[in-house]
Parts: sequence; structure tokens; C-alpha cells
Amino acid sequence: MEDKLRRLFERASVTKGGGILLGRSVVADGFWPRRKARIVTHAHSDHTIDISKSMSAQGYIAATPVTFTMMKYLGHSVPRAKRKEVEPGSCFKIDDERICFIRAEHIPGSVQVLVENENGFRVLYTGDFKNPGSGTPIVEDLDVLIVDATYGDPRYVRPSEAEVEEALVDIIEQALSRGEPVKIYAYYGKIQEVMQLLRRYGIDVPFLASGKIFWMSKALEAHGYCFGDLYNLSSQEGKEILKGDHIHFVHFNRFSKDRDGNYVRIKLDGWLANKAFQKIGRKDWIVAFSDHADYNGTMRYVMESKAKIVIVDGYRSSFAKAFASKLRVRGVHAFAMPTLLGL
Ligand SMILES: [Zn+2]
Repeated sequence: MEDKLRRLFERASVTKGGGILLGRSVVADGFWPRRKARIVTHAHSDHTIDISKSMSAQGYIAATPVTFTMMKYLGHSVPRAKRKEVEPGSCFKIDDERICFIRAEHIPGSVQVLVENENGFRVLYTGDFKNPGSGTPIVEDLDVLIVDATYGDPRYVRPSEAEVEEALVDIIEQALSRGEPVKIYAYYGKIQEVMQLLRRYGIDVPFLASGKIFWMSKALEAHGYCFGDLYNLSSQEGKEILKGDHIHFVHFNRFSKDRDGNYVRIKLDGWLANKAFQKIGRKDWIVAFSDHADYNGTMRYVMESKAKIVIVDGYRSSFAKAFASKLRVRGVHAFAMPTLLGL
């Protein structure tokens, strides 16, 4: 039995260092020495762990072109010779394995990874995702599903995406109609998703950003992202924009440090549970805009995939064990990794 388990773990597991082993030739989102390629599902820091180790030890790094661009602005430039650019919906081969990138809705460039071999063994890692069944296709016929369960606790259920989006747009429109500028605080990647969203809702005031946020957004425009009027805060034009209607995008971590009474300030925080928004100060708000599925969404992915075995990523979520036991109650063969038995 132990032998069987070890063979399974070599082809599908979460290592103690956060690497996701998929088949025999690739490791995703962490480092593992005996693998030909390292995959990066998206540019967030808990998915670029030990990337410099991978750059020296692994044959190449595979990611979407958008992810390579995001990584560059987050301080992880991958040399051209080490890069394998793979578009969502495309596959490549290593020995007898086919590795496919499947769209995931999370931040720009995000993908799920499916590895299948010639014997028909199929393992999929979702990476971070939201909107299963629409923005993130649910992959079926899997031997093993490795799933992200950031919000894998029943306390974390959010109102519908539309309700959250409408709350956000409402707060912004009301502020702008009173002549008050808006600051939005969010993480890299989520900021760009929100910029696009606000344009879709017809908000056309200029956007302001500085440093990494500005340059990353400009670089994404070359990949087809469209943010409308976006100015660098430190440019002459940016300083002019400051005097009129605008929305200023700032990193999430600045929310508690930044004090500026002129602004209506909105923090985008997926941990706000059971409500779309909360007013926390005279002009301060939290909106439950998340780039992860909530508990129900995560459950939906697993149940609809009907995978034979489900491994819940416990390296990136503190709810992995509890979520796996919820799955077992529903008759799913599920467990959390890394475990003591694992690699
Ligand atoms: Zn992420």
C-alpha cells in the first residue's frame, strides 16, 4: 500500500516546499530538483517560490506570456533562453507526457495545468481560480485533481459576483458625483482586473497609478488589456489629473498607512464574508471583491470535476484539512497535502 501511495505522490502531490508535482516531468509553482520543467501558473508570490532555484536547476520555465510580463515587474525576470511561452488552451510535450494550459480566472495570465500521459493518466492543478464553470472551465475525467482552497471554510461565502461588482461601482459613482476622488487598494493583478471591470461598467474618469502598478499595467496593454486613460502619478500629466475627478490605484498594504481625507477609500478584500461591502469609516469602505472562488465555488469545482482522487493544497490554505474532510463526507476520496507521508 505504501508503495502504491509513493508512486501516486511522485505523479501528483504538493511537496513540503509548496511545489506541485504533476506527472513525471514538471513541477508547478515551487521547486523540485528532478523535474525537466517548472511551470508558473500565475505571478503571485506564493506561486513563484524558489523561482531562481528553478532557473538554474530546471531545463526551462513554462508560463503564459502575460505571466512572464507580470513576473518581470514583480522582480522575477526569466532569461529568454529559459522561457517557454505557452498560451492558455495550448499544450506541449515532454517525453510521453502532454502538458496543457487551461484558462483560469484569477489575475492576468493565470492558468490551470493538465498533465496526461500515454496510458491515459490525467492530473490537473487548478492554481488559484474563481468563477468555476464560466471564467474557469471545470476539467473532468481526472485521476487526480489538485485544488486550491483558499476559502475552503463554510464561513467564507460571498454574495454573487454581480452583487459585489455593483456595490463597488455604486460606491465609486456616488463619490465621483459628489466631486470626491477615489482610491482603490488591492493586490497586484487584482488591480488590473478591477481597472478593466470599471471600464466595462462605463466609468471613464482617468486612472492614476505609480511605480510597479503603473508600469505593469502599461506592459499588459501590449497583451491586449485595455485600461483607458491611465496616467503615471509622478508625470506632469498625472499631477494635473490629481486636481480633478479620478481613481487612484494603490497596493493593498498601504490601506492602513495611507491617510488622505480627500479620498473615498475602498479596500478590496475577499475575506469579507457574507456581505458585498462594509463601511468602516467616514469615507472608508471594504468591498468583498475577490480573485478566488468562495467556499461554494471551490466545492462546486470539486464535485463537478468528479475526480477519482482530490488533493487539497494545504501549503497555500489553512483550511485544506477541514475542506478535505468536508469532501470525504460527500464521498470524495480527498486529503490535504503536504502530509507527513508525502515528499
Ligand atoms: Zn494568486
